[in-house]
Amino acid sequence: KLLNVVQELKGNIRVFCRVRPLLKKEIVEGGSNEHMQMPGKAGKSLSITNVSTCYLSKLHSFIHSDGQKVVPFSFDRVFGDSSTQEEVFADVAQLVQSALDGYNVCIFAYGQTGAGKTYTMEGTNSEHELGIIPRSVKLIFKKCEELNKFGWVYKLSVQHVEIYREVLQDLLQTESGVKLDIRTTKASKKNSVWVNGLTEHEVTNYNMVQALLRQANQKRATAATNANDRSSRSHSVFMLKIVATNELTGEEHDSVLNLIDLAGSERVAESGSCGTRLKEAQKINGSLSELSNVISALANKDSHVPFRNSKLTFLLMDSLGGNSKTLMLVNVNPTKKAANETINTLRFATTVN
Ligand code: ADP
Ligand code: MG
Repeated sequence: KLLNVVQELKGNIRVFCRVRPLLKKEIVEGGSNEHMQMPGKAGKSLSITNVSTCYLSKLHSFIHSDGQKVVPFSFDRVFGDSSTQEEVFADVAQLVQSALDGYNVCIFAYGQTGAGKTYTMEGTNSEHELGIIPRSVKLIFKKCEELNKFGWVYKLSVQHVEIYREVLQDLLQTESGVKLDIRTTKASKKNSVWVNGLTEHEVTNYNMVQALLRQANQKRATAATNANDRSSRSHSVFMLKIVATNELTGEEHDSVLNLIDLAGSERVAESGSCGTRLKEAQKINGSLSELSNVISALANKDSHVPFRNSKLTFLLMDSLGGNSKTLMLVNVNPTKKAANETINTLRFATTVN
């Protein structure tokens, strides 16, 4: 019964957690993940044992019979360190498909730098290591073709922006000097958000999207060489806009699938930040906490949702809340070194959950 209440409160918000494997380099350096108890592939909970940190005292924990302090966390899904890209996508596919039924969908990757956000969202070039973005695009094109038999015709287009220090950059703009600006338009009853100056690229097959993703990555990489660590301190928002028309019934709807690789969630204090970096970190952490505020307000059905407190939540205003679906994917670095950050990350996720 309690579970039902929680599910109801959460509505269309789900939280998944993924723990990446130890990397070769970490193993060579003697890194360990023994403090993490998790399912090999997929389950619903994970726990952290015997890490002495000041954060632990604030958390609900219990002492195991062998004297170890255990802190449990539970999620809608926990993917352990041997879960594959394919297995993760299998649990995301339905949500992605609902974008074709007219739902706005947001999938966020959250976690500290190095925890596996980009791996989960983009993956690598090898076919079995493709991440959620390419798999989603492939699935959408496949489903579009199938639904065509029932009269549905889809117009798909891509937009891709980066948000760095509260400034938007079009990752698919080839001209320089075009300033982006988030605006709202009164559409029927409610305000709808759009970005003035943002390019939109119609796509008719997977290869076209792949080329755009490559272009966006190049632009991000170029920008990153001019600002140290920019790519880990900025949010990347990939938007697939879907306009559906049914030629048999005349039905129409449109929606957006938003796939977001968030800035690293590492805390200011631990990166020893000062000066510009501190300002950056505050802005980044600021926008992450604004995101958490928005999601909590939505989950609690608050009358005021503070969308406009950050560029990210303002940009996604139409896709968060209302009749939309949100998935927060919490990426976890399994090393003992990262344990403090990991606990922070999991605590954040629990506030969202
Ligand atoms: P982030 O984007 O959060 O900073 P990355 O996605 O770049 O982190 O991951 C850090 C490193 O870990 C990369 O070398 C990546 O290839 C590797 N990695 C992340 N997740 C996995 C995974 N599930 N399986 C294998 N390698 C992974
Ligand atoms: Mg990354």
